Amino acid sequence: MESVVCYCLCVLTLLGSLISSTESKYIKYNTTSSIVPGKLNVHLVAHTHDDVGWLKTIDQYYVGSNNSIQGACVQNVLDSLVPALLADKNRRFIYVEQAFFQRWWREQSEVVQNIVKQLVNSGQLEFINGGWVMHDEATTHYIDMIDQTTLGHHFIKEEFGKTPRIGWQIDPFGHSAVQAYLLSAQVGFDSLFFARIDYQDREKRKDEKSLEVVWQASKSFGSSEQIFSGAFPKNYEPPANFYYEVNDDSPIVQDDVNLFDYNVPERVNEFVEAAISQANITQTNHIMWTMGTDFKYQYAHTWFRQMDKFIHYVNQDGRVHALYSTPSKYTDAKHAANEAWPIKTEDYFPYADVENGYWTGYFTSRPTIKGYVRFLSGYYLAARQLEYFKGKSALGPKTDSLADSLAIAQHHDAVSGTEKQHVANDYAKRLSIGYTEAEKVVAASLSYLTDALNSGHQIPQAKFQQCPLLNISYCPASETDFSKGKDLVVVVYNPLGWKREDVIRIPVVSENVAVRDSSGKEIQSQLLPILDTFIGLRSYHTTAYLGESSTAKPKYWLSFSATVSPLGFSTYYVSKAEQAATISDRYTPYKSRNQKDTIEVGPGNLKLIYSEKEAKLTQYINTKSKVKESIDHAYKYYSSYGDDKTQTSQPSGAYIFRPNGSSVPIKSDGKSPLTVFKGPIVHEVHQKINSWIYQITRLYKGKEHAEAEFIVGPIPIDDGVGKEIATEITTNLASSKTFYTDSNGRDFIERIRDYRKDWKLQVNQPVAGNYYPINLGIYLKDKSKELSILVDRSVGGSSIKDGQLELMVHRRLLVDDSRGVGEPLNETVCIHDKCTGLTVLGKYYFKIDPVGDGARWRRSFGQEIYSPLLLAFAESEGNWGDSHVTEFSGIDLSYRLPDNVAIITLQDLGDGKVLLRLAHLYEVGEDKYLSVKAIVELKKVFHNKQVIKISETSLTANQERAEMEKKRLAWKVKGSTQEPQIPRGGPVDPQKLVVELAPLEIRTFIISFKH
Ligand SMILES: [Zn+2]
Repeated sequence: MESVVCYCLCVLTLLGSLISSTESKYIKYNTTSSIVPGKLNVHLVAHTHDDVGWLKTIDQYYVGSNNSIQGACVQNVLDSLVPALLADKNRRFIYVEQAFFQRWWREQSEVVQNIVKQLVNSGQLEFINGGWVMHDEATTHYIDMIDQTTLGHHFIKEEFGKTPRIGWQIDPFGHSAVQAYLLSAQVGFDSLFFARIDYQDREKRKDEKSLEVVWQASKSFGSSEQIFSGAFPKNYEPPANFYYEVNDDSPIVQDDVNLFDYNVPERVNEFVEAAISQANITQTNHIMWTMGTDFKYQYAHTWFRQMDKFIHYVNQDGRVHALYSTPSKYTDAKHAANEAWPIKTEDYFPYADVENGYWTGYFTSRPTIKGYVRFLSGYYLAARQLEYFKGKSALGPKTDSLADSLAIAQHHDAVSGTEKQHVANDYAKRLSIGYTEAEKVVAASLSYLTDALNSGHQIPQAKFQQCPLLNISYCPASETDFSKGKDLVVVVYNPLGWKREDVIRIPVVSENVAVRDSSGKEIQSQLLPILDTFIGLRSYHTTAYLGESSTAKPKYWLSFSATVSPLGFSTYYVSKAEQAATISDRYTPYKSRNQKDTIEVGPGNLKLIYSEKEAKLTQYINTKSKVKESIDHAYKYYSSYGDDKTQTSQPSGAYIFRPNGSSVPIKSDGKSPLTVFKGPIVHEVHQKINSWIYQITRLYKGKEHAEAEFIVGPIPIDDGVGKEIATEITTNLASSKTFYTDSNGRDFIERIRDYRKDWKLQVNQPVAGNYYPINLGIYLKDKSKELSILVDRSVGGSSIKDGQLELMVHRRLLVDDSRGVGEPLNETVCIHDKCTGLTVLGKYYFKIDPVGDGARWRRSFGQEIYSPLLLAFAESEGNWGDSHVTEFSGIDLSYRLPDNVAIITLQDLGDGKVLLRLAHLYEVGEDKYLSVKAIVELKKVFHNKQVIKISETSLTANQERAEMEKKRLAWKVKGSTQEPQIPRGGPVDPQKLVVELAPLEIRTFIISFKH
């Protein structure tokens, strides 16, 4: 009975209060976007993180389809944002990914576009980062990073006249030196923010209030290209309990006293507590709250309504000050505080989020996409050069589609390999479409450039074919029967600024062939049989990808040496001959009765010595440099943790590498260990390592490095265990735990096994924790020699023992690693419904030099790997040379670029303007002769044009460089700041047109020509 009485009384009391109070009414929230000095300022940064493909494709994310995978629609975000910002002029929002924004923008009415322009001009809407995508930082090449950022910055400049001020790399899995000094400082950013750093590093930085630093990432640039950088305390989301998407369950601010659950005091207390706890680990009285996360603000009002209330009530409370802010405003506040910041050097790799969670698997995940992206990156560079030599056509094919698809592929869930399979397929499809159009640009340009009579449309120009599947020996153009009296014309284009000699390989159907140069003189050639392994690879993949298996079966690789002028082409002819060309000598040791102890291979200065009995490489000898070294070249695999069903904790997956114990050597099955082919141009050693690994080691006459081509896959998983395959080279070099890996193809950074410079490393993963991303190469050295490996795509690699280097070349896994993608990384190739595990074909290159001499090869040959010779094929019945240009150089015939400089962009912008980027390839102190200032004479580069204006710009060409330097904020750093003078190239005299480049400098110009 008592409880009933109480119940009645309570209800009466409540009713009384409801009836006696006034009714709900309009509350004007006092929002602000101003800072209050002397108080703890909580900068609320409203943002959405819109992955340009991950669990869904870019198109599905944009329109909001396939929502059973993820409820995400970027159109909703941008549509709802406009009225939400208009509702209160204090509200702020940042937008990042231009691949999405420019799409939405083009679909808006003029009225909406004008409103958005006002929002941008007032600063309510600010573009941050501003690239096409938020690129990955481990598996991207610096040229791709520059190109994709330029694309986005160009759009923002054209449409809004703005230049983004802030770097915002909040999701990539670790952060590179190149991102800091090049893609942030040199694009004119004032700061750079990110979330993912090693969990041990983060704890130390929280204790020392050093999450925010001045990052001097490059030895060559020191403080001259530093950037204020902040790692978030936890992630890029709001503090716990402050999430406000429609379905989120954080408590809303219920401030209507007429309704139940009024909670303003509690919510204000929670806000203040969270702010103070963050302030305790942050320097200055400014902290940033990242209010948003993946694909949020699909109904923007829900977030802004709550933030309006927080700002209103928290500021009424007065203990801390809350405001609508942006990373720019936050950066200005940090700068105004005029404090000194700790210095950070080098990079933030590798990234681990928990004890056994090293995100070093994605350095290799999806190796064929990584290979495809790199191949197209080099092709895009060459295609734009050729497009420029012809003149950009208004109606004809363009390179724009390849630019767009390559930019999208740099996203941190694209080339990184951490997307779902159907999304990986979508990226590949876009790249293929982009390539197909760019291929037409290349063909049209070569037709134009080879047309000696300048016949225009009078006589049909030559039709060029190209062979993008040459890597699997598929090239219909060269697989023709020359007996019908036709010549195969091979035009070889060199995108580098140096004269170059390289060996060309094309498949042919007959041995009765001869090769002539452009003067008609027969030159040396060599035939190598195309073995069954290649024929199988070729027929399977042409059927899978082209839907057709070609009937012609090439018998030989025809090799010959081509010499090509800088930014120019040469022409070679392949035709029928009465006699067979030189067929390589074949030697299969196990068939020979009298086995020798050793076999020496190598037509030039480099000799590799193989042991016949053991069927393996044992010695490396260079007769010119006198380098001699014991060497072992082998394959091994790591069993992936968690693929055995009994293991439940952190598995290996698309992101994470977690080996289950140490590596297992892969031994040759002993049947046919070695086959050696020798000829005048190249020697090849074929090794069938096992039923799913095949390797060819090539030594060319004129080269002093070895080339290793590998075919790995399908990786067997019938034992229920995932495997990660590595190749390794072992020498006796006493490298004392130290090795070097490149940062996005630029600076080499010193790595020390089981050690970090920024904190005392607790070693939990002795292999995975020592893996680093490699885009150009890896090397180690001792007092007398250095061993270098260069790669043809992005891979993970390490030095697990002194004198040893390894690369992870392929991975196949059976369980997901719980970082979001929700699929095991188990790639297959299917014909109809029958699928087999993916096979990877790739190359790497190795060389041993006297200590101090390796840089020259790594840089110069590294650039040749990035920019291979481009081949185009045509048929000729008569004498091609009579009616065609057979030799061409795009620059003055007497000129070549210095050995330490590459043209990394030459792009026709239309209206008589070009975009030119020149890159010095060497770091300060890297090479005795080449780490010096270089000079490029633009009058000779543009020898047939008259330059009327040249302006030097920021890296992404969206502002004048001088203007950018003037605006740059200066930051004070803690401790000693003595550093040597940083050399820089001087200004360019518009009359002399000579560009100076200091070590590692990249200079960007917009040049106008007289029409
Ligand atoms: Zn992301």
